[in-house]
Amino acid sequence: MHSTVRGPSLGGCRMWTYDDSRAAVRDALRLAEGMTYKSAVAGLPLGGGKGVIMLRPGTTLDARARKAAFLDFGETVDRLGGTYVTAEDVGTGPKDMSVIAQATRHVTGLSRRRGGSGDPSPYTALGVLHAIEATCERAFGSPALEGRSIAVVGLGHVGLPLARRLAKAGAKLVVADIDRAKREEAARLGARWMTPAKAMTAAVDLVAPCALGGVLHHDSVPELQAPAVAGAANNQLADESVAELLQRRGIVWAPDFVANAGGIINIAVELEPAGYDPRRAEARTREIGDTLRRIFDDAERAGTTPLAAATALAHERLRPARPSRRRAAR
Ligand code: NAD
Repeated sequence: MHSTVRGPSLGGCRMWTYDDSRAAVRDALRLAEGMTYKSAVAGLPLGGGKGVIMLRPGTTLDARARKAAFLDFGETVDRLGGTYVTAEDVGTGPKDMSVIAQATRHVTGLSRRRGGSGDPSPYTALGVLHAIEATCERAFGSPALEGRSIAVVGLGHVGLPLARRLAKAGAKLVVADIDRAKREEAARLGARWMTPAKAMTAAVDLVAPCALGGVLHHDSVPELQAPAVAGAANNQLADESVAELLQRRGIVWAPDFVANAGGIINIAVELEPAGYDPRRAEARTREIGDTLRRIFDDAERAGTTPLAAATALAHERLRPARPSRRRAAR
């Protein structure tokens, strides 16, 4: 994609099982496109990228093979000379980033001890909190969370800190996870525990999908009782037509790549010449609320969905700058 973006393409390194290499390449391209939109809408001077380390079905790597795979990956990243900067993603963590860092300096998400920005998840959770406030404002006329009933589906690295922040803000929580061990967290939060299927269709004010993608589709949306959806999970819509279905049902949906940009915003601060500063990362992440308000306004004005408005905003920011008249005349 041609764009005005001057910085490198940033996106995680995913280690995942694929049936064949074509499926892995397709996934990498789809995810890289999503990262491009995410960075553009967040106003970051970065392109989008993604690295995929493909595992064959049924394979697990022992510690030595895993290290070798990440060293290979790091060497590949290094050959790209800084046009792609990698980070952690599904199936990889800060330890793997430290191995990659032995082969290249074009890696982010290193631990705070090693001068990096550490785990991005708390920033993703903070950004989703602001997206939830903006979504509540659109759906109910007020961003206040006190007394709002909210279902958080998936209590992982993002869902759990998000649920803690929501509880602190006075929301009435329903929480769900396929891992029943997380039930103890529910008790600590004073939240009601439900199965994921029940939580998705619970009679709450807002559902926050924080586990898998593809949870909003033509069978699940008619079952939703919540008038608002805003969460961290990537690719929540099974396909783009689901955005129209949500709109027809009067459900306010916060586009996932807008709501969950806090992690990438935090990593982008690590790449700034001044170096990493958690206060700058937090301030930028809080801006997600206003970005989303603008997207809801744009959608209303144009009579489209928030997905269409967010995608249009990304394209606007990616459009090559027109040459100025003076330059064009030369
Ligand atoms: P995670 O693996 O730490 O947590 C996911 C949680 O969901 C786990 O507790 C898991 O048991 C649970 N889960 C899995 N399948 C489920 C199901 N069907 N129903 C209910 N719960 C289920 O992942 P995470 O880092 O918290 O990320 C959550 C989502 O947010 C993912 O879609 C991820 O791509 C997206 N995301 C994360 C970040 C980040 O900074 N971590 C940034 C952007 C987007």
